[in-house]
Amino acid sequence: MSRYAVLSDIHGNLPALEATLRAISRCGVDDLICLGDIVGYGPHPDRCLDLVMRTCTWIVQGNHDEAVIDPSTARGFNPNAKFAIEWTRRSIGPLHKAAICQLKGRIELPGVLCCHNTPLPGATDYLHYPAQAALAFRGVTQPVCLVGHTHIPGVFEAPTNDPADEYTAADIARWDLTDGMCVTLTPGRRFICNPGAVGQPRDADPRASFAVLDLDARRFVIHRVEYDVQTTQLDAHEAGLPPVLAQRLAIGA
Ligand code: ZN
Repeated sequence: MSRYAVLSDIHGNLPALEATLRAISRCGVDDLICLGDIVGYGPHPDRCLDLVMRTCTWIVQGNHDEAVIDPSTARGFNPNAKFAIEWTRRSIGPLHKAAICQLKGRIELPGVLCCHNTPLPGATDYLHYPAQAALAFRGVTQPVCLVGHTHIPGVFEAPTNDPADEYTAADIARWDLTDGMCVTLTPGRRFICNPGAVGQPRDADPRASFAVLDLDARRFVIHRVEYDVQTTQLDAHEAGLPPVLAQRLAIGA
């Protein structure tokens, strides 16, 4: 069991999730890992929750998932994100809320640590830059750490594989990954890998993003998938969600 599909940041976008799952079914993976933010922003939170619960073996709770069940954690959200969280809270039923409650913020598998935003316990940082990753590696307890949250696919590589080692920004290599690009997970090093976002990409490529992590072949590969953006936009409009949340989907922003 060492070939995983990794998906994150679905954000209530059912057409993107369905297209991603169709693409994953052709990848020959053993299991699916979801890094959280199943809901928030998009118009299909309940159906995305159902589908993720049915298809993914390991599911991490993201900060938007948490904000739906604990409003106090949405304080720092921008007004559109907050509006969408409140809309989501009204839209989903008690069973879906209970399912979100049961999700853990951190899951350790053999060789792989899974979290939503950062492996540093209690922190809420975004990992965009090597300086941020240098600190975050202090919380990485496995050779590979999977994170989502930035909605941008990429990898940070540390030069050693000893959790006691401390790094500066200059020690960390960063790879920005486009469709089909692969990073080799060289033995003796450590990696923080981000599959990008299924339901709200922010790297100027509007296609849904996911990754295949192959621990035997030691590869992390990004895949991009076309989906019906217009259907999600129309459903967001009908739901009364802020127009900017639908508009950004068309440009991957
Ligand atoms: Zn997100």
